[in-house]
Amino acid sequence: MKASRMCLKTLKEAPQEAVIDSHILLLRSGMIKKNVAGVYTYMPLGLKVLKKIENIVREEMDAIGSEEILCSALQPKELWIESGRWTKYGPELMRLKDRNDREFCLGPTHEEIFTSIVRDSIRSYKELPVSLYQIQTKYRDEMRPRFGLIRSREFIMKDAYTFDIDETGLNKSYEDMYHAYERIFTRLHLNFTAVLADTGNIGGNASHQFMALSNIGESTIIYNSNYSADQEKAEAKVDVYNEEKDLKDIQEVSTPNVKTIEDLSKFLNTSPKRIIKAIVYKDLISKELVLCLIRGDREINKIKVANKLGLGEFDLDFATDADFSSTSSVFGFIGPVGLKMKTLVDPEVTHIVNAYCGGNKKDVHLKNVNYKRDFDGEVVDIRLVVAGDLDIVKGEPLKEERGIEVGQVFKLGTKYSKAMNCVYVNDKGQEVPMVMGCYGIGISRALQAIVEEYHDENGISFPDDLAPYKVVIVPVKYTDEVMKNLADKMYDELKSKGVDVILDDRASSLGVKLHDWDLVGIPYHIIVGRDAVNNQVEFKTRRDGNKEVLDVDVVLKKF
Ligand code: ATP
Ligand code: MG
Repeated sequence: MKASRMCLKTLKEAPQEAVIDSHILLLRSGMIKKNVAGVYTYMPLGLKVLKKIENIVREEMDAIGSEEILCSALQPKELWIESGRWTKYGPELMRLKDRNDREFCLGPTHEEIFTSIVRDSIRSYKELPVSLYQIQTKYRDEMRPRFGLIRSREFIMKDAYTFDIDETGLNKSYEDMYHAYERIFTRLHLNFTAVLADTGNIGGNASHQFMALSNIGESTIIYNSNYSADQEKAEAKVDVYNEEKDLKDIQEVSTPNVKTIEDLSKFLNTSPKRIIKAIVYKDLISKELVLCLIRGDREINKIKVANKLGLGEFDLDFATDADFSSTSSVFGFIGPVGLKMKTLVDPEVTHIVNAYCGGNKKDVHLKNVNYKRDFDGEVVDIRLVVAGDLDIVKGEPLKEERGIEVGQVFKLGTKYSKAMNCVYVNDKGQEVPMVMGCYGIGISRALQAIVEEYHDENGISFPDDLAPYKVVIVPVKYTDEVMKNLADKMYDELKSKGVDVILDDRASSLGVKLHDWDLVGIPYHIIVGRDAVNNQVEFKTRRDGNKEVLDVDVVLKKF
């Protein structure tokens, strides 16, 4: 490609809305262009990298016997009614109507479509298993689109779906995908780890996320050498805190204006571990209030609560003062004793002997409160696990790290096949629901995760096999006949060998030209200058800035 013919516009300044390096660099290097918030165009150089990522994904999917198809983004409401997700998916689903008022959505994911395709195509157990994938544009009306391609409203995903006759088959399909993902993210040169994950909006009964480790990651990974999980899902060893043995009589304590756990612990001169923290959520669908009890030194995990209640994360909100008018409770002094409300009790709370908690009256707490004797509720793990908590395998301390979720695999089981009647006929002639798995990779998000990992103060520094072009030839002065001839000759030679090469034939200064290629992340720069008369050029490696003057033949042999 000749640079003079490229639609390339690099920017000196970072656009204001971009706050993280990879987003700034993708915009400054002209690889992507913002359309509206969370919607981007892939410009020629960005698209080239995207295609390289797609091809790696394609090769690894094909290698495990998954077949590529391409579905429409537009999906009819009816399929989503069948699966039950038309209402459940919530405001993230982009909904629209055609001229006849028929309703559609733009697919945020494609379980419904793939399930309907397979139920229409497959009849007998002899035709299973089936594995299909696509690389296609997805739509999610994200509450906060940000960080460019990391969280956008239109993005490119590889999504695959497997259909098996039973759990054993699913386990094999899942394992194949899991290992393919390991190969994909290795080939994408990402520093990644796979963690146990929550199944969220997709549903199902087992899941792993693939996380590119990065400080700007929006996910928190909880891990040590025995255990690793997304924080949303992470469990930890239950700590038993019971410094007292005998249950004492319950008593009121006057605690004027003491509302926070910290203040209360000081005021009562007791450990926060002996205080029961009460959090009240409101189920926005049924309007029911739910009391959640955790130990005073812990934080609550809202996802765990939502999962327990069979709700989406956004179907739950904190109750406010106004919600309490029907009960006698007072905000800030809420406790479980005598409060008639659906109650979830974290296991640690059940172990506290003679605990403190809110008294449901202004300026009153209770002491010597004990689970089962003074209050009841369903025992369920609802605590947020953080660094320092102990793992459930060997009881060793856990650590925290940030990650960008670049992929996720799910064992769906029969959730969709049952709801949508996707069945096969077994060897006894009976109809049985297929056992499904689904597997996503954020292709466009991965592009940005790669830039986040591979950049320096001069710009992007792509790994060789992911760069949009591998090498650029930069004549100091293209109007100089000797330089031009040598540059043209090298360009033709590399092109004929199938090397991804750019010839920078622009009239700009050498500084401006090199600056562009540093920014864009071309791994090798061949600078054709005064030494052209001796058939020599300067060869620069972008990654380490290493420069050497070499004979043209030596340089050409490198490619
Ligand atoms: P997140 O938790 O980050 O919102 P998710 O778990 O909802 O993502 P999945 O349904 O698992 O996402 O989608 C598969 C993959 O698609 C994700 O692993 C991620 O890489 C990518 N992805 C999801 N949402 C977005 C988005 N808004 N922008 C870009 N990529 C996305
Ligand atoms: Mg996910």
